[in-house]
Amino acid sequence: MSSRVDLILRGGTLVTAADAYEASVAVEGERIVAIGPDAVLPDAEREIDVRGKLVFPGAIDCHIHLGPEYDDWRGGPHAAAHAGLTTLVGFGVPEAGETLPQAVHRLREEASRGSVLDFGFHLILPPQPDLVDGIPEAVRLGISSFKLFMTYKKRGRMCSDEFICRVMERIAAQGGVTQLHCENGEVVDYLENKAIAEGRVRPADFPPTCPDWIEEEAVNRAVKLGALTGSPVYVVHLSSQLGLERIKQAQATGQRVWAETCPQYLLLTDAEMETWGPLAKIGPPLRPAGGPDREALWRGAAQGFVSTVASDHSPRSQAAKAPGWKNIFVDEAGQSVPFGSPSVETLVPLVYGEGVVKRGLPPSWMARVLAENPARIFGLYPRKGVIRVGADADFLIVDPEAAWTIRVADQKGMAGWTLYEGWPVKGRPWMTLLRGQVVLNQGKLEQAPGYGQYLPRGGPVPPIAGAAR
Ligand SMILES: [Zn+2]
Repeated sequence: MSSRVDLILRGGTLVTAADAYEASVAVEGERIVAIGPDAVLPDAEREIDVRGKLVFPGAIDCHIHLGPEYDDWRGGPHAAAHAGLTTLVGFGVPEAGETLPQAVHRLREEASRGSVLDFGFHLILPPQPDLVDGIPEAVRLGISSFKLFMTYKKRGRMCSDEFICRVMERIAAQGGVTQLHCENGEVVDYLENKAIAEGRVRPADFPPTCPDWIEEEAVNRAVKLGALTGSPVYVVHLSSQLGLERIKQAQATGQRVWAETCPQYLLLTDAEMETWGPLAKIGPPLRPAGGPDREALWRGAAQGFVSTVASDHSPRSQAAKAPGWKNIFVDEAGQSVPFGSPSVETLVPLVYGEGVVKRGLPPSWMARVLAENPARIFGLYPRKGVIRVGADADFLIVDPEAAWTIRVADQKGMAGWTLYEGWPVKGRPWMTLLRGQVVLNQGKLEQAPGYGQYLPRGGPVPPIAGAAR
């Protein structure tokens, strides 16, 4: 090793997906070059004193929607950077007439201009057979995950089982992973139309049209289609105990079936529909206040059956949501009232404050669900998601003592509201580094839009599982 390195993080507690221990980290250029006791590390051009802080691997949000109707690829990463993230793997959708490779080039250009954070893309496949042939080329361009919807019939997103099979077969052949929004869209559509016909259109009438067994049924189908085609299955935003039980069953057979949940399913209930109306309309819906789902999901995450926690950030303006006060399902033109809620800025604070502080999960659990597992499943490991020699020098440094309250006034995103208004949290992202450079420094960003780099991704590596405590 040269006698002098660029940077040392001195005196913190390093948190990995396995454990936490006192050590300093040396960084040269964009990479980690040494980890060890202070006394044996070389001198550095710059030192950052992280005594009393927790040093996590850079946090990854692997479920985020950015684009013209949401935060864009400039504003979204800007907000996410303030909230402690360093890498975003966001959803892109091919525009009308565009092939998948064309969509990748367009998205990559847009995000390269605007993003302060490193980024990659999952592609959403609408049910258009002509898109399927673009999968191999998209994989060569570094896209290893593709999302299909089993619901959203009125929005033109719902894929037939036949289409899902054909896509999964192509993804399996390319060594990728299939992400599925698991809800039975035919039944949802039936229940929604029935509710509309009977005049049950208040916000609180929405969750009962997407009951938990509809997720369970679709998870079961996703598992079976994955077994049939050989594709790994990644269940996005798991929301129910019933769905979780089916996933556990599949995992016990050794099948590559992995699940993600989100803070909203761990923490919020359908009672929010009364308070927030259409702002709390998300898919799958928030589950019944008296139900078993939140506790089941916490247990599933603690026991390693749920691999990742992601935001499903899909902010909407209040104006876009407003028609839902009158009819939660459709506006006067018959268009679906938008689903989604802003959540990237609350992801890290809630996973730390609610998971580690309040529920006593070890910090290594957070390193698992917010860093190493998303990196493994989405083909970024070991460049991202881990503190080890040779990895990108990406860190999330948390001040465990900071106590504060979530306020929309402090948020940077376009939505202008948060379902967590007034929520007290302990622990705060204090600093982040991305490829050796400080991005967030106590509330301020030190890097500009365009600092972020495109991350071509490979195939999945199985996530860390087993009980986290
Ligand atoms: Zn989503």
